[in-house]
Amino acid sequence: MTDSTKESTKEFTLERDCELRFEIESKTQIIVELKSGFAELYGTELVKAKKYTFIQGAKVAIFSYQGCVLVIKGTPDVCYIARETPMIQYLNTHSAIEQMREKADERGTTGPVTLVVGPTDVGKSTLCRILLNYAVRLGHRPIYADIDVGQGSISIPGTICSLLIERPAHIEEGFSQLAPLVIHFGHKAPDFNNELYKICVSTLADITMERLKEDKRTQSSGVIINTCGWVKGQGYQHLLHATKAFKAGIILVLDQERLYNELLRDVDSSVKVVFLPKSGGVVERSQQARAESRDFRIREYFYGSRSPLYPHSIDIKWADMKVYKIGAPSLPDSCMPLGMKAADNMTKPWPIQPGPQLLHHILALSFAENVEQDVLKKNIWGFVCVTNVDVERQTITVLSPQPRPLPNTVMLLSELQFIDSH
Ligand code: ATP
Repeated sequence: MTDSTKESTKEFTLERDCELRFEIESKTQIIVELKSGFAELYGTELVKAKKYTFIQGAKVAIFSYQGCVLVIKGTPDVCYIARETPMIQYLNTHSAIEQMREKADERGTTGPVTLVVGPTDVGKSTLCRILLNYAVRLGHRPIYADIDVGQGSISIPGTICSLLIERPAHIEEGFSQLAPLVIHFGHKAPDFNNELYKICVSTLADITMERLKEDKRTQSSGVIINTCGWVKGQGYQHLLHATKAFKAGIILVLDQERLYNELLRDVDSSVKVVFLPKSGGVVERSQQARAESRDFRIREYFYGSRSPLYPHSIDIKWADMKVYKIGAPSLPDSCMPLGMKAADNMTKPWPIQPGPQLLHHILALSFAENVEQDVLKKNIWGFVCVTNVDVERQTITVLSPQPRPLPNTVMLLSELQFIDSH
């Protein structure tokens, strides 16, 4: 890391409703300090005189409703003050959701379930983070569900998840990831297996909505759901399916009027569909940046990022493994056994003989002990990555965040790979 923090220290004065945006592309770090006034990062308040460190890859917007002075140490690759932001619209949206929470609390009913949709790179994850932060700052305990399998913000790519939010996101690290509910999908985009994706979303919705009822405060706080940026054709059908599965009462549509009008036409009239502008600060990411971000999330799962983790290397005998892949290559209906459709093929667990083909793949450890239990409806205990396959000894070596023994459960093969360069 170059010590660019010594190079420059600059003060920025933000007027009311303005935001400071910066990006760090190079291998450097930027330290931010709030000198006076009030400011927040995607809904989390900055503490005065506390130093926040941002590293390579950070895309940051620090917004102030009242005005503030910020001190920036270091030289970001991009840095400017924006006067035009959609934050007031986002705050108004939060206020409308808040009123629904209050009503739900009085009546002892389920609070608002909100789906955030829009094409790629419009700030869906960021809007979810802002709304969740505003909710917890008012004492709520909402659930965050993320059904974006490629660029999700909970657990690793290839999964869909939900998480109870009890405190605002950490400025530098985001929401605490304690005990998420994780469902294995095994691919980086829904179109690799649309049938399976639908089942995964229904399963996540069922378990999440059950958990919502376990705590009165959580129930009235409701759910905020982040979705994939695939909004055309089958991707659009997935959004309609998610709306039904989670019984969403609000859909926030970012940026795309066509999608907004299609949803207005197709969802039940009781669902409120709201159009919101995207922030001009949202940064577009290339396919390569998306692949790097997936890789980063898997590395972070095993090795941590700011606080390092020390994963274990564990040998497992092939004979002791129960590896399955959900979905076989599709066959025409005419080739299927009597009474089965090709679609059934895509949602069945198929046994996999351990061997060199597992190298570098992620394996999800299911809570199902055997395949007779419905593995599709079970959540995930954790992940390992295959780092070596020994054909002679008939063993594999896996990287695991947990020491041995690993639970003797079903392992589900993910298409996602991670090359452990440590
Ligand atoms: P995806 O297509 O992957 O689902 P998305 O629509 O969820 O993307 P975000 O992940 O919320 O988009 O935003 C993309 C990037 O833009 C993120 O790195 C985020 O930190 C950054 N970003 C969001 N809002 C702003 C802003 N106001 N100023 C600067 N950067 C921003």
